[in-house]
Amino acid sequence: MIIVMKREATGEMIQHAAEKVEKLGLKAHVIQGTERTVIAAIGDKREEMRESFETVAGVSKVVPILAPYKVASREVKPEPTLVKAGSLEVGNGKCGVIAGPCSVESEDQIVETAKAVKAAGATALRGGAFKPRTSPYSFQGLKEEGLKMLATAREETGLAVVTEVVASEDVQLVAKYADVLQIGARNMQNYRLLEEVGRVDRAVLLKRGPSATIDELLLAAEYILNEGNSRVMLCERGIRTFESHTRFTLPLATVTYLHQKTHLPVVIDPSHGTGHAALVPDMCVAAVAIGADGIIVEVHPEPDEAMSDGYQSLDLPTFAETMKRCRAVANAVGIQCGADV
Ligand code: PEP
Ligand code: MN
Repeated sequence: MIIVMKREATGEMIQHAAEKVEKLGLKAHVIQGTERTVIAAIGDKREEMRESFETVAGVSKVVPILAPYKVASREVKPEPTLVKAGSLEVGNGKCGVIAGPCSVESEDQIVETAKAVKAAGATALRGGAFKPRTSPYSFQGLKEEGLKMLATAREETGLAVVTEVVASEDVQLVAKYADVLQIGARNMQNYRLLEEVGRVDRAVLLKRGPSATIDELLLAAEYILNEGNSRVMLCERGIRTFESHTRFTLPLATVTYLHQKTHLPVVIDPSHGTGHAALVPDMCVAAVAIGADGIIVEVHPEPDEAMSDGYQSLDLPTFAETMKRCRAVANAVGIQCGADV
């Protein structure tokens, strides 16, 4: 249920209503909108709720949340959420640009890439230190050593660090170095991991599983939100279809659809979404044109030498050129894309 507070409700009234929700054995999420505050009461006690809240001071009305996902729903918060993490801003007219290699390979590689993507207008650095690889024989990442290199790159450039965490037991370690915890496509439905990142003070980039529906993605986000972490970004990174010319199929309509259903920002990953460097620039531009809240792009100083996903990584000049096109389109549609350079 959503308890919609009156515009003039005081902080005390809001707190009192939230406490009353908790007393009923429900979870209270207080969501401050620009217009008014609502309390999402999560649990299954509809009728008692309506009766016991209609007369509480400061309450305007009590309405059911119809969507299966609750805190993520636009019914609860009609205005878009802006997620901030260090230099990265994603949502509400700000299109964040996260760029960097698939994997952190060496300090030189990550620092060189960080400097180049920053100069081109990126607002965050990506790079995997814990890699979820299809084969156990493929490079698995530099782990904590890689996290330290990412922290060095942040010191040198000021760029926020986005990096993947693959297991619940690594969350504290990765959170020590990262500004944004990435939950990879393969882990979208690892519910214990989602709960764990829901309990740390780090923004989360949640990638869609290649065979997950949009509702399943939103319910996965709900696991994180329900633990109290409100800084969640959704990421469309392509789904598996019968088409084999691209690595995955990148459905850009996900952005528009999600904007109608959720207040959470939506990031597009054209690198995994296409699997071919030659297709990535146009998909970045298209994502910006339709109002995506962010793009996450694999960029490598020497894609041919990359230890993972080189075939879908842009080289540094191509990324810079792509950013120019993205900025031009962003200007045309009235949003901001990346940093001004
Ligand atoms: C990645 O970002 O390098 C990655 C492994 O992505 P995904 O989980 O979308 O496959
Ligand atoms: Mn990759």
